[in-house]
Amino acid sequence: MKILVLNSGSSSLKYQLIDAHTEEVVAKGLAECIGVAQRCGQIVAETKLAGKIAFETEMNNHDEAMDRVFALLTDPEKGAVKRIDEIAAVGHRVVHGGEKFVQPTLITDEVLAEVEKVSQLAPLHNPPNLAGIRACMRLMPGIPQVAVFDTAFHATIPDCAFIYALPYDYYTAFGVRRYGFHGTSHQYVAGIALDMLAKQGIAPEASRIVTCHLGNGCSMTAISGGRAVDTSMGLTPTEGLVMGTRSGDLDPAILVYLARRLDAPASDIDRIINKESGLLGVSGLSSDMRDIEDAASKGHARAALALEVFCYRIRKYVGAYAAAMGGLDAIVFTAGIGENSPVVRERACRHLGFLGVELDEAKNASERGRAVDIATASSRVRVLLIPTNEERMIARETMRVIAESAAPSPLLMAP
Ligand code: AMP
Repeated sequence: MKILVLNSGSSSLKYQLIDAHTEEVVAKGLAECIGVAQRCGQIVAETKLAGKIAFETEMNNHDEAMDRVFALLTDPEKGAVKRIDEIAAVGHRVVHGGEKFVQPTLITDEVLAEVEKVSQLAPLHNPPNLAGIRACMRLMPGIPQVAVFDTAFHATIPDCAFIYALPYDYYTAFGVRRYGFHGTSHQYVAGIALDMLAKQGIAPEASRIVTCHLGNGCSMTAISGGRAVDTSMGLTPTEGLVMGTRSGDLDPAILVYLARRLDAPASDIDRIINKESGLLGVSGLSSDMRDIEDAASKGHARAALALEVFCYRIRKYVGAYAAAMGGLDAIVFTAGIGENSPVVRERACRHLGFLGVELDEAKNASERGRAVDIATASSRVRVLLIPTNEERMIARETMRVIAESAAPSPLLMAP
């Protein structure tokens, strides 16, 4: 029995086929440049049986991309599934669930219509997610489809942390509030962190954790007693930490000031804060942390500044969230930068000794690729490096939903 996990972005479609029992990835791939006029589509796919293949193919939309992926998965000779009903369910990453979807949800026509309504809040992200869902419903009729929302884990955040101090009517009329994103990643690493803390005698109900998802997009979540109580992304993924190309926190009046100075429409301001800011904007060099670290080490002043601004912001949030939770038991680092950059982890933890954070320098420098505690033995706060796995979390949530649903997959019911 296998779960197909799908993540459809604006011009890409990522998938993994995961064995429901062993959680082994039996096939995975990425279709890129979907519907991009100037470039031919590309697919890179990998199965245990056939190894890795890469080829170019025209894909005008997500329907056509899903046709190609489906043909690869079910190829009679080299495909990872021999019969389509080996796929027990499809789990779809859906970016925005609004206030309506606070749990992974079995997709029905009514659910689709509701997700469509929520798309107003994420006009760039939700439509491709929906296109992926529709393509799978067409190709795999009868196979349960489950939406796993990036916002859902943050549904427990209290109103004092999710209300913006704007006229209240904008919340009730337009849904303007903090939602938060990267929920599946925060939830996945928090689960492992809770187990690691429990082994050290800290009960999950009493634990206070800050999870730092530091990838191309970056966010932090305060998790008290295993439940999210605050998170750094907001109505959109632009708020909070400094990211590859997103600004993170700004004085909101800057946007008005820039619009006047540049005589620019809202779409220009949107592009500036989402595509031209962050590490790229400050350094003028790159949005990639490896380039930033490399240039900074060679004396590039603005790369060094970008690195410092990036790490300082993380540190500030750790302090804020420790205050919000009334203490701190662990800081978790995950995603591309969090898992791979000792420099960022060290700088983010710098000056946090007053909270009881003591990083073990040797472990920080050498550990990679596994869940491990990189704090000193005497540190009052554990510092945990935990590789994230959003696809595995989506597969788990998908299995949970179909097991709980009234109409589970026949394969799950088989003896
Ligand atoms: P993700 O979005 O999780 O794939 O993370 C992408 C980010 O991780 C990019 O900014 C990469 O530069 C960064 N990254 C990957 N490997 C390293 C590394 N060894 N050192 C520093 N940053 C890294």
